[in-house]
Amino acid sequence: MSYSYDDQNIFAKILRGEIPNTTVLETEHSLAFRDLYPQAPTHVLIIPKGPYVSYDHFASAASDAEIIDYTRTIGKVCEMEGVSLNAGDGYRLISNAGAHGVQEVPHLHVHILGARHMGRMVAKAE
Ligand code: AMP
Repeated sequence: MSYSYDDQNIFAKILRGEIPNTTVLETEHSLAFRDLYPQAPTHVLIIPKGPYVSYDHFASAASDAEIIDYTRTIGKVCEMEGVSLNAGDGYRLISNAGAHGVQEVPHLHVHILGARHMGRMVAKAE
């Protein structure tokens, strides 16, 4: 099975400027913006600009420059939002993938959630 990317997904539209977003940080290869339906006082999504559906897709197909940029952007956002262990009390980083991961938008994103205690890692599935 190979990866397939749907360029009509919401985050592709955000990257093309077709729908608005509240940008936190933009770099050459990455964009960080606020989640429309925040589940914590800090809830930022970080996406690569390239057409990658999931973290495993990105990790296997992205260039070194994209991977470095993405990783550094995640670190910078944690710092800027005051949740890094350098500056704050921590955060949860989540990346949902596919049906079992309950991924809603099929463009790689990590959620940075923080500024409150995040509770247990995984709720028991019904
Ligand atoms: P996931 O379930 O990991 O695919 O998460 C997708 C996330 O995208 C959810 O937390 C949504 O609230 C968020 N979301 C959906 N549409 C938008 C949008 N237009 N701008 C910002 N966040 C969005």
